[in-house]
Parts: sequence; structure tokens; C-alpha cells
Amino acid sequence: MKTTLKTDITVNDICEGFVYNELEGKGLFGLSGKLTIQPEYQRNYIYAEEGKEAAVITSILKGYPLGLIYFHKPSKDKFEVLDGQQRITSIGRFVTDKFAIVDENGLQQNFSGMAKDKKAKIWETKLLIYECEGEESEIKDWFKTINIAGIPLRNQELLNAVYSGPFVTLAREEFSNRQNANIQKWGAYIAGSVNRQDFLERALEWVSRGNVEGYMTSRRKEKNITELKKYFNSVIDWVSGVFTDVESEMRGLEWGRLYEEYHKKSYNPAKVSAEVHKLYGDPYIKNRRGIFEYILGGSVDTKLLEVRVFDDATKKSVYATQTAKAEKKGESNCPLCAIGRDVNKTKMWKLTEMDADHVTAWSKGGATSAKNCQMLCKTHNRAKGNR
Ligand SMILES: [Zn+2]
Repeated sequence: MKTTLKTDITVNDICEGFVYNELEGKGLFGLSGKLTIQPEYQRNYIYAEEGKEAAVITSILKGYPLGLIYFHKPSKDKFEVLDGQQRITSIGRFVTDKFAIVDENGLQQNFSGMAKDKKAKIWETKLLIYECEGEESEIKDWFKTINIAGIPLRNQELLNAVYSGPFVTLAREEFSNRQNANIQKWGAYIAGSVNRQDFLERALEWVSRGNVEGYMTSRRKEKNITELKKYFNSVIDWVSGVFTDVESEMRGLEWGRLYEEYHKKSYNPAKVSAEVHKLYGDPYIKNRRGIFEYILGGSVDTKLLEVRVFDDATKKSVYATQTAKAEKKGESNCPLCAIGRDVNKTKMWKLTEMDADHVTAWSKGGATSAKNCQMLCKTHNRAKGNR
């Protein structure tokens, strides 16, 4: 790889012909059209949502260095931003009045309203730019390394860079595009940021059953994302069809896995909805996020709900009462041992040899209170299991 350090390129040069695409949320070109600011392997513009774009301008005005910028030079008079896309886009957006900064008097200040000398300072600021020439693989490998600085790349952002091509470009238009009207609906089930590729990552993870990298490798040159979209929509349609209420705890659940496991079973949405409401109102459920899988699985696996257990004070007091009664009767303090026929019929268990049990099971409406608590020997408690 050949590199050349340039020290005489100014903000004015870079911003010549700057185009910011509002729809796609990215800076496109600069340097009189010779510079591609966001080549297809680059990530989305995130400085605005990270609150960092004003800092870039303030740094210039204070004369602070902006750091190194790297250009890739694929051919003569053609450049792509390898590192520095966020900074360049921030500058370009500022000089085209896309955002304002807060000045030393605490006032909002946009570029066109600035004093002449301040404008000149920005225009004349020189950037430190390395121009790099080399093979695509070499450049991308290096891109991975230099991007450790600043806001680190997320895994999916890195995969987008490494497997860039028509497939990723189309997939990003669909799943990494905040202008997509479906994003709001999807956001009920998917956690994270559209710009940081969390939605695209989920879509790929679902369709590939977890093998995102393999999927991206095999489809890299494909010019359609039909399968990806279809599968993604099937999952979303299925979830929103089974669960007609949107609860905040649904966001970020493993819907892809749940879809694979349960989409062939039939559910009655009205019944499901009634059950969701009932479980949401149950004070003994500690893990509401488990409610959805619990229902999908036929409402049997109470472990998913982390139903509140009896506390030590309750156990001790129930143990004491139960043991005193048993001693009077001359039978075991485990009520199930006491009605049995073996040697344990009169056995007195220690507290540590017993477990607390719901007399009426939680799933049948039994409360987690002393009234509904009985101590059983460990063997009998295990035998009773999850009713
Ligand atoms: Zn027992």
C-alpha cells in the first residue's frame, strides 16, 4: 500500500460540491465531485445522533487538530473516504446550514449567520490527509484496524464493510434507513439503533439462523434481497399476529428463534391477549420478558417467568409451626411423609433438609405467602415438581 501525506487541502476544497442526502442520511460527495464521502462499505452518518457534530466545528474554531483523515485512491483523481467520513460530513453539513452550534455567548449560531472572520477560519482550515493506494482487500483490512479509534465499529458495521457489494447496499437501504416507514413498527420488536445496523443485524441473524457471516459471504454479489425481506416480514407478521398488544418488554426478544420454534402452532390471539394481560397483572412474576415464550410454549414452563419464591423468614416460621404440630401427633413434619407407609412416616426433617412448596400452585392462582406455604422434604418437593 502506498501512502502520501497531504497538508494543503482546506475545508473549502473538501466542501466544494458537498452533497448531503437527507433521505439516506449521509454525505455523498465533495472535492468537486472527485471525493466519495460515503463509499458503500462505510457506515451510516452517526455523529448527529451521537451529539458529536457540533464538537467538530467548535474544534475547528478553536484551532484544535481534527486528527488524521484517510482517503483511498482507487484511480487517478478519484478518492473515497476511508476514515474521516463522520468529520467531513459534519463540516459539510455545517457549512450548508444543516445544523447550528452554540457560540461563546450561548446562542445558536448557524454558518450563514456567522461573522466573516469566523467563516474564513473554517474555510481556510487545512486538514491532514493521507492518500492511500492499494488492493481492495488490503485497504479493507486496514480499515478494520484504523476504525478502532473514535466510535468503534459494531460487528455488523464491520461485516458491512468487509462484505460490501450490491447485496449489502440493498439490505442497508431497507434495514438501515431511518426514512423507511416500517421502522417504527419494527422498533416494537427490535432493540437498538437503525443507523448502527442493529435492525439489519437482526434481519440477517433471523434469515441465516445465526450464521450471518456465512449468509453475507454467499450472497455478496446478489442484486436482490427478496429472501431476506420475506423472512424478516414473516417473523414480524407472525409476532404481531399472535400478540396483538405491543408491550415494551417485547423489544429485543429472540423473535427469530421463537418464530422457528412456534410458528407452526396455532394460537387464538384473543385468548393470548387475555393471558398476557392476566400475567402482566400478576405481582409474583419477576420476569415479564418471559411471558411471551411462556405463552407460546403452552403456559407450562414457569421457569421462564421467575415466579417469586418464599423468603427465608416465611420458610422458618412455617417450618416451626409445622414441626410443633407434627411432634404433638408423633408423625413426620413433612406432611407427605406422614401419610406414607415407609420408615420416614415419623421422621423429623431439619429445616435444611426441606423446601418450601406452594400448597395451591402459582399457576392455579396460589399466592407466595405464608398461608399458601408448606415445607416438604426435598424428595417430596422434587416429586411434586412444577405443577
Ligand atoms: Zn417427605
